Amino acid sequence: MSEAALSPDEAALLDRVQAPEGQGREILDAATREVIGRAPVQTVADLDDAIARAKAAQPGWEALGHQKRSDLLLQAADAIDARAEALARLLSREQGKPLNGPNARFELGACSAWLRATAATVLEPEVLVDDGETHAELHYKAIGVVGAIGPWNWPLMIAIWQIAPSLRMGNTVVVKPSEYTPLSVLAMISVMNEVLPPDVLIGVSGDREVGARLAAHPDVDKVMFTGSTATGRKIIESSAGNLARLTLELGGNDAGIVLPGTDPKAIAQDLFWGAFINTGQTCAALKRLYVHDSIYDDVVDALKEVAEQTPMGVGLSEDNVLGPLQNTQQFDIVNRLVDDAKARGARIVTGGAPAPELGELFYPITLIADATDGMAVVDEEQFGPVLPIVKYSDVEDAIASANRLDVGLGGSVWGPDRDEARKVAARIQSGTVWINSHGGVHPMIPFGGVKGSGYGLEFGVEGLKSVAVPQIING
Ligand code: NAD
Repeated sequence: MSEAALSPDEAALLDRVQAPEGQGREILDAATREVIGRAPVQTVADLDDAIARAKAAQPGWEALGHQKRSDLLLQAADAIDARAEALARLLSREQGKPLNGPNARFELGACSAWLRATAATVLEPEVLVDDGETHAELHYKAIGVVGAIGPWNWPLMIAIWQIAPSLRMGNTVVVKPSEYTPLSVLAMISVMNEVLPPDVLIGVSGDREVGARLAAHPDVDKVMFTGSTATGRKIIESSAGNLARLTLELGGNDAGIVLPGTDPKAIAQDLFWGAFINTGQTCAALKRLYVHDSIYDDVVDALKEVAEQTPMGVGLSEDNVLGPLQNTQQFDIVNRLVDDAKARGARIVTGGAPAPELGELFYPITLIADATDGMAVVDEEQFGPVLPIVKYSDVEDAIASANRLDVGLGGSVWGPDRDEARKVAARIQSGTVWINSHGGVHPMIPFGGVKGSGYGLEFGVEGLKSVAVPQIING
């Protein structure tokens, strides 16, 4: 079988979800730009119908209780595992990420792992006061219908991050996948619906207008949104109408600080993947690197060595671990930021221009040395295979640089002395700071941003609380 041919399992999944021949919107393979299939184009009326069905199904789902819902989440994880390879191939085509490396197969593994971890997480009622006179307890109940709106970079994993805790707590969920990656998300939902009761989880494939209606709908009680800060602001505005509770995971521009005394070769692989996981199209990727001048050249050289050994190309080829940009819009952003950096005198260490020989949307790993704060490539989120590397001599300046932007999703500090690194970490304004790594997430460790990166936490017990409403039982 050639790489390009749909496997029978992939074709069967695609046929379940795609629009009939001659209808829908064509979705292209991000790497080859060949047509993969036809996304259904659902309307605001279709969305309204989906929300009505989800609302009707919610009381019955809640009444099943935690144990039964958890069992069904475990069965959904098994169903995903059973189709993981077909889903990974479809994801690889649609999103562009390779099968191997921390990419498509990894993403499918994370989906079932997150479902299982969420099924096992317990949110117990808390006794608040029990002094003989007063007995008050804090309980958590379902909110109602959750609207889940996601991006195109980790479309399946992020959908699961929204779906799993929402279902676990007794909510029903209407998912609006990104218009760039609807097929793989709809396919995963259809696999989960092999085991879930009807209308508990519904996917609606539509454009930004459908997303806006989902966020503003009077019967949506909670919106889980992952995407850009600009769209996040619009969702906050629409929540003034329906008072939907919000979890907003927005854009970031994560800084990493490499302290003096760090061994460049020892950290190069982890630095590289911290920046270039999913070819840089990751919310909490390392997007600006501040390196002490005593080791600056060695860090740049060590990163260059890793970059040049890491294969990029069509995702279905088993050799590749880096892929294309997912869409033209993102490709243009990357191109503009690199050209601007060059014009301002930054030094291209590797990459620096598109790679049309690989395909229309390929841009090579691009390391930019002698970058400075104020350059667009440093100040704006690149969301692609580009890393500006800034030299510093006083760690106070590096901390100030890390904190000077209006976003704060993640950050990292790299150094030989953990206590020293932790002191610096405590001063970084971001939802997470990693020490000697960047971007790793864990289903039991809450994740969320500060400043323009949004609010609300996902994962673990805190994640369950954010898709529930508290109720005090007093007496
Ligand atoms: P986007 O904001 O353009 O789109 C995200 C989703 O919102 C899409 O499904 C879109 O159809 C929908 N949408 C658009 N307009 C809407 C509106 N007015 N109301 C409701 N929904 C609307 O973002 P994107 O380009 O798909 O994703 C890239 C961005 O997402 C980057 O900034 C990235 O940093 C961020 N991101 C954040 C996280 C995180 O966890 N913090 C994770 C992944 C991506």
